Amino acid sequence: GTVLGNRYEIIEKIGEGGMACVYKARCRLLNRNVAVKVLREEFVDDEDFIKKFKRESQAAASLSHPNIVNVYDVGVEKIGENFIHYIVMEYIKGKTLKEIIKEKGKLSVEETLDYSIQIAEALEHAHKNHIVHRDIKPHNIMVTDDGRVKVTDFGIARAATTSTVTTSTNVIGSVHYFSPEQARGGYTDEKSDIYSLGIVMYEMITGKVPYEGDSPISIALKHIEGEIEPPRKIDSTVPIGLEKIIMKCVQKNQFDRYQSAGELLYDLKKLKYSCVDDFIENTSII
Ligand code: ATP
Ligand code: MG
Ligand code: MG
Repeated sequence: GTVLGNRYEIIEKIGEGGMACVYKARCRLLNRNVAVKVLREEFVDDEDFIKKFKRESQAAASLSHPNIVNVYDVGVEKIGENFIHYIVMEYIKGKTLKEIIKEKGKLSVEETLDYSIQIAEALEHAHKNHIVHRDIKPHNIMVTDDGRVKVTDFGIARAATTSTVTTSTNVIGSVHYFSPEQARGGYTDEKSDIYSLGIVMYEMITGKVPYEGDSPISIALKHIEGEIEPPRKIDSTVPIGLEKIIMKCVQKNQFDRYQSAGELLYDLKKLKYSCVDDFIENTSII
């Protein structure tokens, strides 16, 4: 098989996204599995894009957190006349959150809180290091078999969303999670990630995204001026506290949302422990 950098032996293709293909590979030097993300050929001649890809790989590599996929290495390989750009990451054995939601239909309150807390922990760490994800969506969240969350594509996502790939599946897929300011093509910051996480939480607990439409534009417009149906309208068993948290994340105005991932974490944890208390209360029959 193909060996990149005289070091990473490609084993099999494990996924495909808007800007890259992902392969499982074996690092010959350290004798361990890795995930190698290879930039799609159509972007190889786009110098601006390559620059962003590199810059964002560096940003992602600077983060070290249990809920963020580790970036190990980057490289360029000349194969024939073509250059192949790739990024080497920690290999995650598990499923994407998208797959999990699809399989289960929707998640329980416990699972939703548990995953949301872990994603918010990842965001808090990144934001403290001045890195905004900009593409928080269930495809970019991996869950290991023992329930540990690993957020992928940190920072790398920016390369994809600011370049000219507006018609690629990447942006079409992401628009469901776009913040209003992102949908407008405006300034995005930490609060955009919080909005996107709010949409992901909404999808976990209800099993569906709040806005659907015939085209990416129509969905983007709904993020800008549409009204979100509260989760309890869809499923009355959703705890009020959880609905409140979600609705505070998905406010149109950045200043009406949680102002930091830390603030969001505080409410999520408070709710998690109050649910545990309720559970104990309701089951203490003896
Ligand atoms: P986009 O490029 O639009 O972000 P995406 O996130 O679906 O789309 P990729 O990030 O290229 O695409 O990843 C494609 C798939 O590869 C993922 O959905 C996941 O199944 C798998 N994958 C990505 N990173 C890893 C990893 N570190 N370990 C294991 N599998 C991974
Ligand atoms: Mg991805
Ligand atoms: Mg991606």
